[in-house]
Amino acid sequence: MVNHVLSLKVKHPVAVGSIRFDQEHFPLIVGPCSLESNKQVDHILATLNDLNIHLMRGGIWKLRTNPSSFQGLGTDALPLIESIKRAGLFLVSEVTDPRHIEFLLPHVSVFQVGARNMYNYYLLKELAQTGKPVLLKRSFAATVDEWLKAANYLLNGPCNHVILCERGIRTFEHGTRFTLDLNGALLAKAQSGLPVIVDPSHAIGLREFVPNLALAVAASGLDGLIMEVHPEPDQALSDGRQSMTLQQLQELVPQLDMVLNISGRKRC
Ligand code: PEP
Ligand code: MN
Repeated sequence: MVNHVLSLKVKHPVAVGSIRFDQEHFPLIVGPCSLESNKQVDHILATLNDLNIHLMRGGIWKLRTNPSSFQGLGTDALPLIESIKRAGLFLVSEVTDPRHIEFLLPHVSVFQVGARNMYNYYLLKELAQTGKPVLLKRSFAATVDEWLKAANYLLNGPCNHVILCERGIRTFEHGTRFTLDLNGALLAKAQSGLPVIVDPSHAIGLREFVPNLALAVAASGLDGLIMEVHPEPDQALSDGRQSMTLQQLQELVPQLDMVLNISGRKRC
């Protein structure tokens, strides 16, 4: 069988501890939209541990469209961050403001730049100096060219560990939250040689469709997934509608393994 998947090479693989974003591996980054409570984090940690998932997402500062929505725990998240560390997981968390870099630096393994900050070049320049891997989300109105130019702000510094993330763009379709642009993600990968992962949770915005979108990504030749989960999604302080239940995640992971197996890749 001709393996179309491997013909799109990742030329700039990224490693986070022993987790590799490269040709052979397909990392999963899973966690809540926002870190909320001990109970929430402990429940998620137990499930990730059972599923052998080592990268956890979790928002500490949130960029919310509505100023009266939950803005994240900020520095009050410290005990939750400590329990993630104690469990041996690597934390991926969004940096919304250059003034938070100093606090986040010892705690995060990957800085996430959100869709709303992709054009914040001064933030990107600051992050480039940290030498930490950066997960750069595509803005929902950015062309692939603009996205890759933003990545160059990061690559111009000592940071050469950039993971791109497609998370849905705005189209005329309002039935789903955004529209997943696999075209753009594949083009970005081919043009940059950087690993490109996908966030199906924000792309579709409806938890019942996230597993099928995730399986499509695993078959697409792209390089990993970042997904939102919550033990009680309807009680979540942010993005509950798109957060999978832990049971959905438990059902999805073996299916992802089967799809990845066909293209000779391994979940990590
Ligand atoms: C998030 O990951 O919770 C988030 C806010 O994502 P985005 O920047 O893609 O909207
Ligand atoms: Mn979210």
